[in-house]
Amino acid sequence: MLQVTNLKASVSGNSGEKNIILRGVDFRVNAGEFHLILGVNGSGKSTFGKVLLGSSQYEQTSGTIEFLGEEISEKETFERAQMGIFLSHQSPPSLEGISAKEVLRAADKASNDKRTLFNFKKIFKNSLQLAGLSHDFIERELNVGSSGGERKKMEIASLLTIGAKLAFLDEIDSGLDVDALKMVSTGINTFSENKENAVILVSHSETILKYVKPTHVHVFCGGRIVATGGMELAKKVHSEGYGGVLDCETCIKSL
Ligand code: ADP
Ligand code: MG
Repeated sequence: MLQVTNLKASVSGNSGEKNIILRGVDFRVNAGEFHLILGVNGSGKSTFGKVLLGSSQYEQTSGTIEFLGEEISEKETFERAQMGIFLSHQSPPSLEGISAKEVLRAADKASNDKRTLFNFKKIFKNSLQLAGLSHDFIERELNVGSSGGERKKMEIASLLTIGAKLAFLDEIDSGLDVDALKMVSTGINTFSENKENAVILVSHSETILKYVKPTHVHVFCGGRIVATGGMELAKKVHSEGYGGVLDCETCIKSL
């Protein structure tokens, strides 16, 4: 489904200098898989998600991103989203004056114009319920006045409503209480039960791993993936810290 090869990206500093953030990411996801990304703060995890979606904040300086067999590096963000890549925000913004329904219906129409308004509403209502939000959220301005937890739930309801194929969920579990975490996890599991879909979850916390079951685990360091394995890798990181899985000197030397 997704094949990323030697992906490098940088951001321009204030005085025009280029700061390299991604230094050669190799990453492959097949339909039906669930990938967990771990990594120290500032190692490039969020940047990776944004570069996948073609954020204009970053310049992709080399490498390829193939999604569903097509090279998408030159595509606009909306085109990548239309193809089925969904990126959840680490801090979901609010949009004054625009309801959640308007935002999601616009996205829905852009990606699947065959759905009737009736069907769209039905799916949106079910998705809200699954994510643990009341139907009031349909007409409310998107995330305006919403708590952090409600915003994360709205990200999951949006994912389930617009029918993406690949979900990149950036710290979707941060700041959630245990009940909200269970709701969000149920939403993620509903999405990943469809074996045509795939999930990439960035998370620091061990708690969410009680509710979701990644099939692959990766560790980011210095803008690239430096370790890959199964759940034993996540367990090792959580019990021993990153020092337990990284040869950090090698990692730092390669920066
Ligand atoms: P992570 O998600 O792994 O914590 P990020 O991808 O957010 O890390 O950031 C990686 C590094 O790139 C950090 O040092 C961060 O400050 C820097 N960075 C990310 N985006 C920008 C930006 N738009 N402008 C300047 N620096 C950035
Ligand atoms: Mg981040």
